[in-house]
Amino acid sequence: MASQAEAGGSARTQNGGGGYSAWRRRGGASGVRGLAEIGPSRVPSAAPLSWQRAGAAAQRRQRRGMEPAREAEEPPGSPALPSEEPQAGHPSGAPPADGPLPAAAGRGRRGAGPKGPSGRSVRGRGRRAPGRRGGEDGGRAARRPRVTVDSSKAKTSLEALKISLRQLHWREYPFGRRLPCDIYWHGVSFHDNNIFSGQVNKFPGMTEMVRKVTLSRAVRTMQDLFPLEYNFYPRSWILPEEFPLFVDEVRMMKDSDPSWKPTFIVKPDGGCQGDGIYLIKDPSDIRQTGSIQSRPAVVQEYICKPLLVDKLKFDIRLYVLLKSLEPLEIYIAKDGLSRFCTEPYQEPTLKNLHQVFMHLTNYSLNIHSGNFIHSDSVNTGSKRTFSSILCRLSSRGADVKKLWSDIISLVIKTIIALTPELKVYYQSDIPAGKPGPTCFQILGFDILLMKNLKPMLLEVNANPSMRIEHEQELSPGVFENVPSPVDEEVKVAVIRDTLRLMDPQNKKRKDIQCQTSEHVTEANENLLDTGPADGLEHESTRTLEPELPSLCLKQVFPKYAKQFNYLRLVDRVAALFIRFLGVKGTTKLGPTGFRTFIRNCKLSNSNFSMACVDILYIDITRRRNGMGIDHRESGMCLQAFVEAFFCLAQKKYKSLPLHQQVTLLIDFCEYQLTVLDAKRRALCHADGPHLAPASHPSLLGRSAPASKLSDYRNHR
Ligand code: ADP
Repeated sequence: MASQAEAGGSARTQNGGGGYSAWRRRGGASGVRGLAEIGPSRVPSAAPLSWQRAGAAAQRRQRRGMEPAREAEEPPGSPALPSEEPQAGHPSGAPPADGPLPAAAGRGRRGAGPKGPSGRSVRGRGRRAPGRRGGEDGGRAARRPRVTVDSSKAKTSLEALKISLRQLHWREYPFGRRLPCDIYWHGVSFHDNNIFSGQVNKFPGMTEMVRKVTLSRAVRTMQDLFPLEYNFYPRSWILPEEFPLFVDEVRMMKDSDPSWKPTFIVKPDGGCQGDGIYLIKDPSDIRQTGSIQSRPAVVQEYICKPLLVDKLKFDIRLYVLLKSLEPLEIYIAKDGLSRFCTEPYQEPTLKNLHQVFMHLTNYSLNIHSGNFIHSDSVNTGSKRTFSSILCRLSSRGADVKKLWSDIISLVIKTIIALTPELKVYYQSDIPAGKPGPTCFQILGFDILLMKNLKPMLLEVNANPSMRIEHEQELSPGVFENVPSPVDEEVKVAVIRDTLRLMDPQNKKRKDIQCQTSEHVTEANENLLDTGPADGLEHESTRTLEPELPSLCLKQVFPKYAKQFNYLRLVDRVAALFIRFLGVKGTTKLGPTGFRTFIRNCKLSNSNFSMACVDILYIDITRRRNGMGIDHRESGMCLQAFVEAFFCLAQKKYKSLPLHQQVTLLIDFCEYQLTVLDAKRRALCHADGPHLAPASHPSLLGRSAPASKLSDYRNHR
């Protein structure tokens, strides 16, 4: 099998552009699949569907309009079972109150029902969640209006969503509804549907933000400010624009350390499932073909010493819920999936560089290796639970609490890098005052553990696969989708608990509690210490759904906000940017807006005339637009504004570390704007009706003017 795997990998690589898909088209995959020895002994996890059943399943899918579409990321997985709460040792944090997640109770569908003696799912029809029968249901339904969910755009997450809704006893509208729904579940993006109310499970701009190039750029900005805090992302260069920089930096590093023998991984922007990815030893090996010019890519330092289990490289998929952008609320699923390579790992050499089954952990690639092992058990096979890896590491004496705490930091820091631009997209699609929906989103974080247990971020997926079926070879060359109980267990829990957290009735209850609180501000501050938001949600879900397991999602922000808030500098720069955007619905700042920003913040003086301001604007905007990032609108994007802001900060506060320069300049600008707002307010009070300053108050998150003034004075 090894040789076939290699053949697949090298064929793909030798043929250049096109990457994995081209290799697949050429028969790479089918070649491997046709010969794959996935016999019954290898496939203990799920008994193949009978032909009739499989056909019926396909018909059902067709009727529902489910696309067999290729997803943004991986398929199958393993069950959720966090045995550890590795939070102690975290500077601020007591471990979260939730107990371990019981094996998912309340499953409503196949594969997830009660287990037989073998541990396999006992399949049945029309099963309900345990403990939800007859009178109890009726009574509860009478007490509580049912939450309505539009699932007409759910696409490949439909099956898992349906099961979740059944468990929650919420009302599904599979074909949409004329009246507004409480929740809209989209399979791809915010724009799948026009929505004006309720909650939608996608943020505008998220897909764009987590593309390889955009994510690298956002993390790079944070690395410029906080290099040590953001060293969990491999050193990266954006092609084609940074190719000369890449060549120069590699040459310099090699000169300073001749023993350094790096490997790099080239990843096309917007790619997924390993598509078009290849490894190189030297910058000159980059394929400077037409494709790299037309399709940008990220080239990254390859992590040569990953942690191995059973001699195999693996990565981790963690599910993260971004519950709200303002205020920032983040939850992490207590368990994730570990996806394994199917060839024993060796450090990259010119000989093995092309062996995809050795170097790339993508499920969608390795499933086509003859060595792929489907497994029922959570701790064997090519896909396991992350908790099973943690158990194993713990038994070897590894500090898994620290590892878990490092992972939480990585997740929070990555989201902090993404939020500034997300806020720009948000205000553009849902301007203040528009009765737009609110948003939440489940993200898939792909993380690689280094040999020393340091977690490294590989990428973030805006649409992690929520499929609960996987492809299986029924007979040589014949494939069918079969239910995957492990996927069902992990993914249904994530979707169901996301819905529980987003339950509009909990929200209403919370709002009422906030309104009745006499000291809302103090109460909110206390959130940072003890995370009662978590407690509150927990309390409500516990009383309303006693028969459901405790939440598999654990709040990490604002719970740990105190440790991370100092990193949110670019958020504050974005707030300034949004204030000066002016026209509703735009994401780019025009020259007049930029001038107004400079004038209102009193940044121009005899050394920095308005003519210099214009030159700065033109220089940076032209260069950024030349990079071909976003041509939809002309003007200065947030990234360009941030670059200009850093320039101004360096000019004004020379010889300090960059983050201090930027902090001082933000304080200065916020102070000037607060003074200006106070003056305007005074004028308006004198003249007549109150005029609000042009801004998106909820996104700016500005505190009261008086406290802003005193903040600034104290800082000085
Ligand atoms: P895709 O979206 O196409 O899956 P990824 O960035 O996730 O792209 O990369 C695919 C696979 O390549 C990862 O799952 C991982 O196994 C491997 N990989 C990616 N980046 C690195 C890296 N810097 N070092 C080592 N392995 C990497």
